[in-house]
Amino acid sequence: MKPFQVALPSTIDQASKLQLKDASPFMAAGTDLLVRIKDYVTVPDMIIDLKRIDGINGITSDDRGVWLGALTRMHDVAVSEKIQQGYPALAETIRNAATPQIRNMATIGGNICQQPRCWYLRHEGYSCAKNGGSGCWARDGENEFHAIFGNKVCAVVQPSNAAPVLVAYGAVIEVQGSDGKREIPAGEFFVTPEQDPRKDVDLTSGELVTRILLPAENRTTRWGYSEAREKQSFDWALASVTVLLDRGGRAGEHRVVLGAVSPVPLRRKDLEKILAGGAVDGDRISSLKKKVGEGATPLSGNGYKVQMLQGLIGKAVRQASGQKEG
Ligand SMILES: Cc1cc2nc3c(=O)[nH]c(=O)nc-3n(C[C@H](O)[C@H](O)[C@H](O)COP(=O)(O)OP(=O)(O)OC[C@H]3O[C@@H](n4cnc5c(N)ncnc54)[C@H](O)[C@@H]3O)c2cc1C
Ligand code: SF4
Repeated sequence: MKPFQVALPSTIDQASKLQLKDASPFMAAGTDLLVRIKDYVTVPDMIIDLKRIDGINGITSDDRGVWLGALTRMHDVAVSEKIQQGYPALAETIRNAATPQIRNMATIGGNICQQPRCWYLRHEGYSCAKNGGSGCWARDGENEFHAIFGNKVCAVVQPSNAAPVLVAYGAVIEVQGSDGKREIPAGEFFVTPEQDPRKDVDLTSGELVTRILLPAENRTTRWGYSEAREKQSFDWALASVTVLLDRGGRAGEHRVVLGAVSPVPLRRKDLEKILAGGAVDGDRISSLKKKVGEGATPLSGNGYKVQMLQGLIGKAVRQASGQKEG
């Protein structure tokens, strides 16, 4: 590891100005960033440690909903009563993420800003569209964990367990830089390779995630979440499906969001429309299974994700509608 300095700002403004000066990366708990530094994938002269900044840690609520400070540990989100009661799919996906040790350190802000896991991207010897070069090694190379949707320019998958669930709940990401605050709907926060292959999230230089709002009007009790992963003990999802039925208690307002199959969480309005067509019975579940792979462009090694999604959507929809697994 190349030696680096650590800056410890105590305000958002200081942190922002430090980054604007020399593009040093922010660090929350470092469970992603420090691994990249050890592997010489990110080689900073300085990192900006966010942990002394006040006001961006912990879970609060007001009439707009529940706010998660960016520095809140994943474990604390998963065990929070406010989250378990109002946004249970978020608690569930976080329980499924990583290991207890990592969840005890890693933050929710770091989770949604973590770098994708493409092995070419995380190897110092490869240059591609995502890190300033051109082309994509994975498309004709080792791609079994890569994207099956939206994979033409770059085939990474969005690695955060929380991301698709935040999109389903209509969460809002609050970011702040020296020019002030912005609120970005979670559905627009994650950047597609077509928009900009070098970016994962919609942050400009000097901006950091400060809080995440889970809107009060989207609290939902009818939910399903299913994911598959290679190792049960700990691993990133190979694919996940989040289903919210009658979101916020509004009849017919359903959400279906796929995770780990495309470079950004993939909301599927076509599947939501099928769900809105009537009772969740066997025929409707068959229609969802037939449709879920539509539009996929699997690569040489990841066609299995289409079949996987068919199983996962059935499971998530049955869970949401209170049916036993068929
Ligand atoms: C073995 C292992 C298994 C894992 N399995 C899973 C899994 O199944 N599902 C899953 O979702 N994740 C998984 N992870 C990833 C883990 O969840 C992330 O490493 C963690 O959430 C990152 O949080 P952190 O606080 O450590 O972020 P850091 O490592 O500190 O930061 C990560 C990135 O986010 C940026 N960043 C951090 N905070 C902010 C902020 N407030 N504003 C702007 N940028 C910020 C940093 O600059 C950095 O680029 C796994 C990790 C490991 C090591
Ligand atoms: S999937 Fe993206 S990050 Fe991986 S090699 Fe291709 S362009 Fe690079």
